[in-house]
Amino acid sequence: MQRAPERTPLTDLLRHGFIPAQESIVDSYGRAFTYLRVSVTDLCNLRCVYCMPEEGMKWMPRDEILSFEEIVTVIEAAAACGVYKIRLTGGEPLVRSDIAVLTRMVARVPGITDLALTTNGTRLAELANDLASAGLRRINISLDTMDPVKFKAIARRHELHEVLEGIQAAHAAGLRPVKINMVVLGGLNDEEVADFAAMTLDQAIDVRFIEYMPLEEAKGCAMGSGNFSFVPNQISKERIAARFGELEPLEVGDGMQGPAEVFQIQGAAGRLGFISAMSAPFCKLCDRLRLTASGELRSCLLDGGGLSLKPLLRNGGSRQDIIAAFRTSAYQKPEVHTDWANIPAASMSRIGG
Ligand code: SAM
Repeated sequence: MQRAPERTPLTDLLRHGFIPAQESIVDSYGRAFTYLRVSVTDLCNLRCVYCMPEEGMKWMPRDEILSFEEIVTVIEAAAACGVYKIRLTGGEPLVRSDIAVLTRMVARVPGITDLALTTNGTRLAELANDLASAGLRRINISLDTMDPVKFKAIARRHELHEVLEGIQAAHAAGLRPVKINMVVLGGLNDEEVADFAAMTLDQAIDVRFIEYMPLEEAKGCAMGSGNFSFVPNQISKERIAARFGELEPLEVGDGMQGPAEVFQIQGAAGRLGFISAMSAPFCKLCDRLRLTASGELRSCLLDGGGLSLKPLLRNGGSRQDIIAAFRTSAYQKPEVHTDWANIPAASMSRIGG
């Protein structure tokens, strides 16, 4: 069994000045945090088989969810120590009322220069313009199939048409880049990877192929019941190359890259990203913290530990207290995640994917 690497005690790091007093949040392995993913709700209007059970989800009580003001207080504290990139997510962020109002509030936080949002796209046709004028720049839209029958099988709802309209609306509203996230599921949608790649030929759309991650709530309802199998991204890459020829590797510095390996079909307008969390984990490059809808700070998607900011936010904690909580959370971040036996008993949607 692989052993977790030794950590340097926090007190020693502080004494040796390794963690700068105020400027940035650095963990005990030297990773600086510049990116905060903010889940604005745990609610979702789809029930994707790889994410949550069809029935029986326990939603957070309304008063447990952070208010817009509380979210912005956390983001201001993050911005004060070097975070410049925010992604609003969920659950489904577009089912939260007045999401464009929150978007505007976040866009105005000094220091936040990169504001993105991840959505299932079902409400995007009505909201894309408001979001763009509120200051949203980039958008990721989850779409796992272009076949209405398969869409119903994966998302357990009939909303493919709305998502496709949402993609067009995002384009028309000037959001750039528009990225499509496809979770590749063997036996459900893996035959479509080359069709998805074809979307990049003429349109400036980026498509990212995501490996399924067996988070606990999904495991019980999907893989466990034999609905689909895991597909490593290498297989998807080979399928795409078999149709379009060898893929050209790209080095990009505009936020497309993140943890993705980026390629392009020769002469295509858009790009292809491969996010291989299972077959090629990228923990060493991970520069993100997560804030759940109920105000828990998590330094690792797969690590059970979280630190609740709610007591600080609701009992008069100062910005310095919040920053101290960021540092503690960052310090708790494992160098790599190896303990698959103890992944959190929660879906990506509850933590904030
Ligand atoms: N509702 C929004 C959406 O659908 O994009 C945002 C939240 S969703 C949890 C964020 C992303 O996580 C989506 O692209 C979804 O496909 C992905 N996701 C959810 N569960 C996953 C899992 N078990 N493995 C890999 N990706 C997953």
